[in-house]
Amino acid sequence: MILKDLQGSMSEMGGQCKTKLYPDNLPKTSVVIVFHNEAWSTLLRTVHSIISRSPRHLLEEILLVDDASERDFLKQPLELYVQKLPVPVLVVRMEERSGLIRARLRGAAVSRGQVITFLDAHCECTTGWLEPLLARIHQDRNNVVCPIIDVISDETFEYLAGSDMTYGGFNWKLNFRWYPVPQREMDRRKGDRTLPVRTPTMAGGLFSIDRVYFQEIGTYDAGMDIWGGENLEMSFRIWQCGGKLEIVTCSHVGHVFRKATPYTFPGGTGQVINKNNRRLAEVWMDEFKNFFYIISPGGSMLFSSLRPKVVDGMSIETIRNEETNQCLDNMGRKENEKIGIFNCHSMGGNQVFSYTAEKEIRTDDLCLDVSRLSGPVLMLKCHHMKGNQLWEYDRQRLTLRHVNSNQCLDKAVEQDRQVPTVQECNGSRSQQWILRNMTVPSSF
Ligand code: UDP
Ligand code: MN
Repeated sequence: MILKDLQGSMSEMGGQCKTKLYPDNLPKTSVVIVFHNEAWSTLLRTVHSIISRSPRHLLEEILLVDDASERDFLKQPLELYVQKLPVPVLVVRMEERSGLIRARLRGAAVSRGQVITFLDAHCECTTGWLEPLLARIHQDRNNVVCPIIDVISDETFEYLAGSDMTYGGFNWKLNFRWYPVPQREMDRRKGDRTLPVRTPTMAGGLFSIDRVYFQEIGTYDAGMDIWGGENLEMSFRIWQCGGKLEIVTCSHVGHVFRKATPYTFPGGTGQVINKNNRRLAEVWMDEFKNFFYIISPGGSMLFSSLRPKVVDGMSIETIRNEETNQCLDNMGRKENEKIGIFNCHSMGGNQVFSYTAEKEIRTDDLCLDVSRLSGPVLMLKCHHMKGNQLWEYDRQRLTLRHVNSNQCLDKAVEQDRQVPTVQECNGSRSQQWILRNMTVPSSF
């Protein structure tokens, strides 16, 4: 869609949202905001925007849960400040640093509204943000709803509207990622862009949920620490426990996306996030958890117990060159960069690729792509259109033929050893590749 059309339909959507009418008897919400070492200005911007942009009869209270912050202004000065506000605002303190999950659970336990709305401590609610969220829960209390998250720049505090064209997904490292909303979901909403977008996962910081439903599905996993994984855990929990997760396109809330956190991860960032992710994989992902264990660093010790099996037409492979015995390796490089090749380490990570049913060779959401004869092999966003991303694996000859150029994947050329290319197919061992399947359900 060209930009002009996009803007046209966005403002059209805005117009449709403005004229929407909501029932009088919407449920009331408590707003729970957890924070650790948050800045005064951003915390109070969040609180004031809730108060000034929510209908008073829909707002039960605001709960500020202090996750053992170390800044003096967040102690007594904050309590004195919120006493003067026209809405009940309660400050609750965690005895020790617990992380956002247990802090939110504390807030939820203290709160009284029929709906619980969680917000990060650096948000700005826009006019009309609340009614559309509550209306969806009023329609069906198993709807868990997120606003469109607008971007507040962490450098300039510029406010940029988010769009209804992206929704939440994840990669096999269990990182949350935004992806384009697929065509079938756009088609379902074609007549009415104010309809919510069904989203596989949520970013996690901003959502509303019915209190009883939250309890029925077992709330959060209280064993998760500090930050990370809880958003996917909650998303999987909702979809697997009779709920729906939606982005309500008439509701907009801004969030400051920051590059650095004002807090530490006791025990190490990687360790904390990895522990949380393992909990979510073990509980909710059945045999798909093996994709995570293979791809994420630290999962390698499981390999010995793994047997090959293909899940859903997709396989996860290491791709070893017969002549050099080296393996294709994404080298941690990014989009638009060249694929690498490196000594095989059988630790998964950067050396696992999926050879998809569409015959792409894929790492995360990037596909091996060649656009000129004898050219280098780049990692570009997968487009599912075959074209330059179509690779035919010949299990007899062991070649990976790039169909468009009719050339074969070859080991790195002499002058640049780390960069594989495609070359005229010639039957040499440098064009032979052994795909070793690593897809492994442990219990099936
Ligand atoms: N938070 C917390 N305790 C922690 C880590 C985070 O209370 O140990 C709060 C944090 O202040 C914020 C929310 O949890 O209000 C989400 O964290 P953050 O905004 O850093 O996550 P991001 O938006 O960057 O994913
Ligand atoms: Mn945040």
